[in-house]
Amino acid sequence: MLPGPALAAPTEADWAAAVAAVRRLPADARVLLVCHVNPDGDALGSMLGFGLGLRRLGVRRLQATFPGPPELPEPLGWLPGLDLLVPSVEAYPDPDLVVCFDAASASRLGELVDRLDTAGDALVLDHHASNTGFGRLHLVDPGAAATSVVAEELLARLGVSLDAEIATCLYVALTTDTGSFRFEATTPAVHQLAARLLATGIRPGDISRRVFDTRPFGAVRLFGEVLGRAVLDPTAAAGRGLVWTYATLDDLVRHHQRPYVLESLIDSVRCTAEADVACVLKQVGSEEWAVSLRSKGAVDVSRVAMALGGGGHRFAAGFTGHGDAQEVLGRIRVEVDAALIAS
Ligand code: 5GP
Ligand code: MN
Repeated sequence: MLPGPALAAPTEADWAAAVAAVRRLPADARVLLVCHVNPDGDALGSMLGFGLGLRRLGVRRLQATFPGPPELPEPLGWLPGLDLLVPSVEAYPDPDLVVCFDAASASRLGELVDRLDTAGDALVLDHHASNTGFGRLHLVDPGAAATSVVAEELLARLGVSLDAEIATCLYVALTTDTGSFRFEATTPAVHQLAARLLATGIRPGDISRRVFDTRPFGAVRLFGEVLGRAVLDPTAAAGRGLVWTYATLDDLVRHHQRPYVLESLIDSVRCTAEADVACVLKQVGSEEWAVSLRSKGAVDVSRVAMALGGGGHRFAAGFTGHGDAQEVLGRIRVEVDAALIAS
């Protein structure tokens, strides 16, 4: 599947419709917040930050959830607003409003996808250019660096002022998706938002150390092993180069690690100077891999991911691959060649 027409930023009418959907909720309305499977800092941070804002507005029957096992990566297990979280099996079956965060497609909502039909209304906050347009109300801004940028604007339009708890959640989300303000999407507006968040008194050094710079020693050893088997293929992508590695479930067991520790592995692989495309295959089942793709610009990896059933952004994307690691890699190589950007 090729990307459709370029998504435009939300219009004033889109913002007004989203504000109205929240404002018209009766006092006893049940609101369900949902983010994508395997939540990252942006998914969880934008959801909890928005949830705390709704609580300030007086929404009392409020739940936040995500599909899959109700376990959080340890680096995110301290965020304000975690008391809003419920396991997906306990989520309101027919909320008055469902709000989705950072999910490019309905399939990213896993077993919670039915809420799009059973809820009274469905509002989608996202920033993926590959967003499929699911749900009824859309605040999808492909120019936004993170879903939290969209969440903060909606909170502002609802009249919620930032406090340190909301700001902590949104700051984690913003730093996660901008690579701590290193990526191309780091616009003046991103720094202006960061300034508003920091003005609440939050401590960026503490937050960054907890989120990005704290891992068990076993994870350090695991990285050593997995990086040691990385392969550079300089002929891939018409000579732009591909670097890749994989981590198995057995690797995790041997090092006593949980899967989340592998999320940042791609950052250690993608720094390879000789490769435009970086790829990490993380085993999730006997013949199933969660694949992370990154590009330095010569290849649109969102096209690679979409062709293989996933999605994402031009420079960062992912999908679930089936078969053994070499088979999955073979398919990636074919799609990488097809997704070369004419220069
Ligand atoms: P990561 O490699 O960090 O898991 O994901 C990078 C980007 O690709 C994120 O924007 C994420 O939303 C997207 N992505 C990762 N895995 C999948 C997937 O299985 N399906 C879809 N649709 N998007 C994915
Ligand atoms: Mn995001």
